[in-house]
Amino acid sequence: NVVAEQILRRRSLEMRNRQEDWKGSPEGQKMQEIRRNLPAYKERETLLRAISENQVVVVSGETGCGKTTQLPQYILEAEIEAARGATCNIICTQPRRISAMAVSERVAAERGESLGESVGYKVRLEGMKGRDTRLLFCTTGILLRRLLVDRNLGGVTHVIVDEIHERGMNEDFLLIVLKDLLPRRPELRLILMSATLNAELFSSYFGGAPMIHIPGFTYPVRSHFLENILEITRYRLTPYNQIDNYGQDKMWKMQKQTDRKRKTQIASAVEESLEAADFGQFNPRTRDSLSCWNPDSIGFNLIEHVLCHICKNERPGAVLVFMTGWDDINALKDQLQAHPLLGDPSRVLLLACHGSMASAEQKLIFDKPEDGIRKIVLATNMAETSITINDVVFVVDCGKAKETSYDALNNTPCLLPSWISKASARQRRGRAGRVQPGECYHLYPRCVFEAFADYQLPELLRTPLQSLCLQIKSLQLGSISEFLSKALQPPEPLSVQNAVEFLKTIGALDENENLTVLGQHLSMLPVEPKLGKMIILGAVFNCLDPIMTVVAGLSVRDPFLMPFDKKDLAESAKAQFSARDFSDHLALVRAYDGWRNAERQQSGYEYCWKNFLSAQTLKAMDSLRKQFLHLLKEIGLVDSFQSCNAWSNDEHLVRAIICGGLFPGICSVVNKERSISLKTMEDGGVLLYSNSVNAQELQIPYPWLVFNEKVKVNAVFLRDSTAVSDSVLLLFGGSIFGRALDGYLMMLGGYLEFFMSPSLANTYLSLKRELNELVHK
Ligand code: ADP
Ligand code: MG
Repeated sequence: NVVAEQILRRRSLEMRNRQEDWKGSPEGQKMQEIRRNLPAYKERETLLRAISENQVVVVSGETGCGKTTQLPQYILEAEIEAARGATCNIICTQPRRISAMAVSERVAAERGESLGESVGYKVRLEGMKGRDTRLLFCTTGILLRRLLVDRNLGGVTHVIVDEIHERGMNEDFLLIVLKDLLPRRPELRLILMSATLNAELFSSYFGGAPMIHIPGFTYPVRSHFLENILEITRYRLTPYNQIDNYGQDKMWKMQKQTDRKRKTQIASAVEESLEAADFGQFNPRTRDSLSCWNPDSIGFNLIEHVLCHICKNERPGAVLVFMTGWDDINALKDQLQAHPLLGDPSRVLLLACHGSMASAEQKLIFDKPEDGIRKIVLATNMAETSITINDVVFVVDCGKAKETSYDALNNTPCLLPSWISKASARQRRGRAGRVQPGECYHLYPRCVFEAFADYQLPELLRTPLQSLCLQIKSLQLGSISEFLSKALQPPEPLSVQNAVEFLKTIGALDENENLTVLGQHLSMLPVEPKLGKMIILGAVFNCLDPIMTVVAGLSVRDPFLMPFDKKDLAESAKAQFSARDFSDHLALVRAYDGWRNAERQQSGYEYCWKNFLSAQTLKAMDSLRKQFLHLLKEIGLVDSFQSCNAWSNDEHLVRAIICGGLFPGICSVVNKERSISLKTMEDGGVLLYSNSVNAQELQIPYPWLVFNEKVKVNAVFLRDSTAVSDSVLLLFGGSIFGRALDGYLMMLGGYLEFFMSPSLANTYLSLKRELNELVHK
């Protein structure tokens, strides 16, 4: 012990010397200078004192003032100066992977180190962390996972929860857990950081914790609402009149014609929406899709219009465009790249900003482009607060964000672009005033802005709670409903009840809401409970390989690309992977296996290009599969991968396991003469997304489809689906199986006995009747 202490002291002193050396070096001094100019620096001593005197401190300050990069670093520096460098252990959570990675890299650079020395990061599937890492940036999910293994966070000295104003589900959950933990760990320090001024809410949640506000400076930003935008852009955007001597040039002529057509389209859409707003038809609560901004051609054309205006008539400065999601970012980027001005790389640097960006691409976003080139960054609401692009002078705000919501009555998750809150709109506007006075183009009328909610609804109140409930149980936090009632804003009892019922149905909880053995395993796997169940079934029934691919695909994202303008080609590329077996999931397995073979022959990229597949997604699936295998070995369900794949080529078995995982996501199929009628118990009639292989079929010769996800847009749509027979549904779907698994009767032998019992026929018939009644009622 004494020896260990001596080693720690020596290391602490080494760290202190290294820090002093860096601060004395020329580059170090330059960096110090930059850091001293950030608004957070003036509050350094106040912050450090408050943290040492209080267990909980709430810090707020404008985006870019230095909360994320500076505050954790101040704590680290102070600890190192006090010769506690080797014993401190600071964890700073971020809601998104990209910010954890970008910020850690920046902080390491500010300290003159490379990542993985005193500063590191950890996100799902990736990390950079060494023996001496004392400041770790991680996603909130990673810290929650760590709490699973160590409920007291032994050894951790400071927890910093960043971006709490976003009110993500994980952050709200983490706060309940930490509030519980603080009395047991009196020396642990908790710092909450928020970009907006609603700090009181958090302070009072923690019994009146002190609040520190970092005053920041931003330049004024002028707001243009829809009604002005046309005014500003209309006359300036007709310079084609002046270039009529280009008339000979056919391309210009064509461009002029499409432009005119578009302009008329835009103008009438704008007028329509202004009129509707005038008549008071706008209601943000009902998510009317009134705005002329929708992720369709008219909305895109309006954005293109505004961007052209900026590039032609405005002063230099980068443009940040807020879009709703990755799909429309890609679609818009394609459209802009085809534009003669915006697509010209010698004049415009067009970038998309998303979560799984490579770091070279990331750098381009933060760097200043060469003189004469205008940087345009297309981003989602992630660029509202968690990353800061310094040279932005113009912001284009579509007014919407894709938001998951949850309809507890129908137990249906919805994913719709919906109007943002006033707080978000202000944040977006604020991004334009970092280096000089800026301009913000809101693509909606002012009266629509006035009708926005003040703040967005916390995620906990708008998502299904299954994974969260499972986590509460595996962390041994007691009764689910009691625990959730301690949240900042507790969810509706009906949502909690739905989630608990679901976990009972799949056999993760027993009747008394206790965690089953299956439930324990499921909480170890980093995927939704039902997908975890599918993996475990795959391991038990010896067809792990294809099942891991299905689950990886469902939890990363769909690797089949559907480009806006090449939809038909992409759909037929996907159809090639269907062996007319009525399953998107089996098509996915074939596509992945094909890619893996192509990779072995170094032709992965060509394969992806030819088949409209995303290489990035396939790679992410690959590493997730590796992680599954590792965890399954840890749980003890897999000892050799080979033996777990004895039945991998049995398509019927794989189909059955998919059904076992996706139940109760089922839908009945009735083949009509010209169409297929699909119904689920909760929604009645439903439709298939056009890119499903089953959407191309005229007949589906199976009575059921199982699906992972349904989404309410204008109608209820099923994403990927797999057709299954009565007997498969009976044997693999539903609670019999759940209960059997629960008893850990997972040995195949036990099953066969059960199914051969004389009562099987009767059970079969009565269950079939029951199911039919339920679905056709
Ligand atoms: P906050 O968390 O308060 O929003 P940050 O700590 O993220 O602010 O950023 C503070 C400042 O650090 C920013 O204004 C920016 O100037 C600078 N900065 C952050 N990340 C980078 C980076 N990757 N490259 C260069 N400068 C950066
Ligand atoms: Mg920040």
